[in-house]
Amino acid sequence: MRKQIAAANWKMNLTFQQAEKLIDDVLDANIMLSSNQLVLFAVPYPYLLMTRSDVEDEYNYEVAAQNCHHEKSGAYTGEVSAGMLHSIGVNYCIVGHSERREYFGETNTMLAEKINLCLGNKIVPVFCCGEPLAVREAGTQNNFVAKQLADSLFHLPAEIIRGLIIAYEPIWAIGTGKTATSEQAQEMHHHLRSVIARQYGTAVANEVPILYGGSVKANNAKELFGCADVDGGLVGGASLVAADFIEIIKALK
Ligand code: PEP
Repeated sequence: MRKQIAAANWKMNLTFQQAEKLIDDVLDANIMLSSNQLVLFAVPYPYLLMTRSDVEDEYNYEVAAQNCHHEKSGAYTGEVSAGMLHSIGVNYCIVGHSERREYFGETNTMLAEKINLCLGNKIVPVFCCGEPLAVREAGTQNNFVAKQLADSLFHLPAEIIRGLIIAYEPIWAIGTGKTATSEQAQEMHHHLRSVIARQYGTAVANEVPILYGGSVKANNAKELFGCADVDGGLVGGASLVAADFIEIIKALK
């Protein structure tokens, strides 16, 4: 079975003390993950080491970064490289979140560079794609997300693609409380899988976990994750509340 993943994206929220408590509260729920399940905590950079050591002895709980820079190293004040993340034992990194694309001008080409740097540092990228509202309203979302995948990922060989994680996050659903219906999510996830299949074959496409992101909550996770091509969620707001994120973990297939 494909990996089923609940990924918390805390964004720029919580003090260090609140972060420690949130991790403790989630781990105290003692949810035993099966071998095909994974929980990721994508935390702000200053909390990576604390989180890594908190999850160290937990089966299939891992820490993730929310971003890395698209250059290997150099005069980029305030930035963090994939190599730095690797050097502190971070094995996962979100790449191409829509907030990074929108507020920090990240392009598909820059994201391809980040993907390469993550892979070169043994970091599994969680690659985000998804369309803005205007594209959805124009009905061109399928081509839009297919281009995001093609531009940032399709230079990679099949054996690498099968190890990636993709998150489909319709921008109109992020932080808006407006969730895609399970039909909309399934339709798009099926489309994304068929785009990968066209490029790399069905076997590879069937191995890639595709997470849904966009107002996943404790009360809708089960239905969304129940869709055949939805392999869990990338969760913003609801991952900041232990009780809610615990329910979302429990909703994994
Ligand atoms: C996200 O940050 O990736 C996200 C999906 O946020 P929210 O769950 O708050 O919509």
